[in-house]
Amino acid sequence: MSSEPADDPSLHRLAGAVAGAAAPRNRHSEQRPSLDLRAVLAEPSTRVLEVVGDRCAVVDDESGNPRLQWRSATPEDAEAEVVVFLDRDDDGAAEFAVALPADETRTRSGDAASDIAGRSATDPRVTWQTLREVGPWLDAEDVAEFMTAQGMIIWHRTHGFCSRCGAPTVPASAGWVRRCTREDRELYPRTDPAVIMGIRDADDRLLLARSPQWPDGRRSVLAGFVEPGESAEAAVRREVAEEVGVEVGRVAYAGSQPWPFPASLMLGFAGWATHTDVTLDTGEIAEAEWFTREELTEGVDDGRLMLPGTLSIARRLIESWYGGPLVVPGVDERGGPAWHRPS
Ligand SMILES: [Zn+2]
Repeated sequence: MSSEPADDPSLHRLAGAVAGAAAPRNRHSEQRPSLDLRAVLAEPSTRVLEVVGDRCAVVDDESGNPRLQWRSATPEDAEAEVVVFLDRDDDGAAEFAVALPADETRTRSGDAASDIAGRSATDPRVTWQTLREVGPWLDAEDVAEFMTAQGMIIWHRTHGFCSRCGAPTVPASAGWVRRCTREDRELYPRTDPAVIMGIRDADDRLLLARSPQWPDGRRSVLAGFVEPGESAEAAVRREVAEEVGVEVGRVAYAGSQPWPFPASLMLGFAGWATHTDVTLDTGEIAEAEWFTREELTEGVDDGRLMLPGTLSIARRLIESWYGGPLVVPGVDERGGPAWHRPS
């Protein structure tokens, strides 16, 4: 990715800790074009992950850790609004994501859990949760499955019409393609690259900023989308220059994270500024300051500063600079607020 090696050992530690960075089990993409949906859904071992709005069923295991709740598939699942073949597990059992129709505004409201509670009436342990809510406590495999399901479902819901001729599209290839009904044309799922970067100065301070929409104490690293015709490294330098007027010299790739809200792939970088003068683009950034480790620790401990959630690569980039995990009192517990947005 980077033309310059990530020679800082702390960067190598980043990749394994990023939620969603682990690959899902074998996706068996070679099976997709000829997969007989009804036949595979009728296999007794086939399992389904239901997604209602942006929520999945979650149940705690014996140790109190949340796990995604799968159910047995039925041939009727082939009629669901969205059906996507996710993978086969180690025993060959097929796994699908199935989207059930849901009123977006309803499931995104605070009443979501009670609105869809009827679905889990048979098992009172089940709760319906978003990836932001439960992701920090799911294991790597569950996060990867949830992210894949979420990203694919959002893509299907937003690509019902051909982007060239406007005709309706229909799903094909086990949910991994949509085909234009007028032209001989296939549409593939989109992933939009974005860069997210921990920028350091010559004194090894970290640049943290606040978006105008965020509450007063919230801080994160800078991020932005890669533009057509631009490398990821160039996007890092352009975004930092545009948003805070800081010039970045060396840039090193640190790891990536899928962020399917709706279709981002966050490419994480460390970058080294050539000066420290900050000039804000106030439309994009309300505040930006350089932090020493001591200043960050103090701000977090006394509640003045809020960091992005532990699910996010933003948090991992901050911690990779910091040199270890940061714990935000009252926030980093299960059920605490989910802060992260990619930019
Ligand atoms: Zn078309």
